[in-house]
Amino acid sequence: MNLNKILNNDAFSRDEIIYLLNLENQNEIELLRDAAYRTMSKFVGEKVYFRGLIEFSNICLNDCFYCGIRKSNKNFHRYNLDKEQIIEAVKLAMEFNYGSVVLQSGERTNESFIEHVLDLVKTIKSISTNDIFPEGLGITLCVGEQTKETYQRFFDAGAHRYLLRIESTNESLFKSIHPPELDFNKRMDCLKSLKEIGFQVGTGVMIGLPGQTIENLADDIIFFKEMDVDMIGMGPFIPHKDTQYAYMIEEDEKSKWKNYELALKMIAVTRLVLQNVNMASTTALQAINPFGREEGLRYGANIIMPQLTPTEVRKEYQLYDGKPCMDEFAKECHLCLSGRIASINREIGYGEWGDSKHYFSRT
Ligand code: SF4
Repeated sequence: MNLNKILNNDAFSRDEIIYLLNLENQNEIELLRDAAYRTMSKFVGEKVYFRGLIEFSNICLNDCFYCGIRKSNKNFHRYNLDKEQIIEAVKLAMEFNYGSVVLQSGERTNESFIEHVLDLVKTIKSISTNDIFPEGLGITLCVGEQTKETYQRFFDAGAHRYLLRIESTNESLFKSIHPPELDFNKRMDCLKSLKEIGFQVGTGVMIGLPGQTIENLADDIIFFKEMDVDMIGMGPFIPHKDTQYAYMIEEDEKSKWKNYELALKMIAVTRLVLQNVNMASTTALQAINPFGREEGLRYGANIIMPQLTPTEVRKEYQLYDGKPCMDEFAKECHLCLSGRIASINREIGYGEWGDSKHYFSRT
């Protein structure tokens, strides 16, 4: 195949996606990165949008095999931030002029949890709406699989983006990392419901899962395209010490870096194929390379999620080992990320929602 010819395409076949993900030569990878960056500049611009991340509870009723906060892990402290703590974090987002917040927690479906989330969304809207920001802060929810009715209630309360990662679009791979009660088709149905309701919908996968092939990852990208999603968040698979994948922590550094490099290629190829979606440069990239998040932005990502979770509980929300930014206060994270983004000559969209352009093109 001819790399230059493929990179000048507007549409990509499965074979071409596989070819791009298989690139190993550094000069060729740089051509891929450059093409992805140009596509990002053309379709969504070079601004980076901040979504202040508030991990408001690590209580989860699920038992995903790879996850450090799954319900059967007893080796850490469970927390539930009270409303005042969450609103304090929201006020920091307003002080730092972030434009949006993400409310993330483990998965619970009981009515009191749902009411709590609804109350948070309504309160955040009400305290952040004023003459300068008539629509208040943008709110993204990431609280897992819920019924369509619950999603509708969240939407009606004022949340307008929802993140629900599928982790792998290959059904047998999905089953290999989840307990039997988590159903692949249900996850698909949830994504469809979110779209039908009118959310800007985000999903994503882990890169480097045991047994995962390049073909699987190519199919993930094709799924993102066919599902017509608006936002992507994905990163390298990093094993957690309290999971069945702990044995992989001792594996050689090489495979860790291989996953990292593959994750960057996934960001670049996804940008080429999906063009106008929002794509996060995730902290998992920084867990491997101290400059991983900047690299994610250089490979075509345009979203960063600075930490607003209170520092005293942040260590208790580790889906994978080695998560960075555990000890810094929110202000330090804010200054650090601002500096990192300036170092790669990107501008931050302060005070803007920075919604997915793809959402408006499909609705
Ligand atoms: S991945 Fe999400 S749903 Fe699964 S155990 Fe972890 S927090 Fe719960």
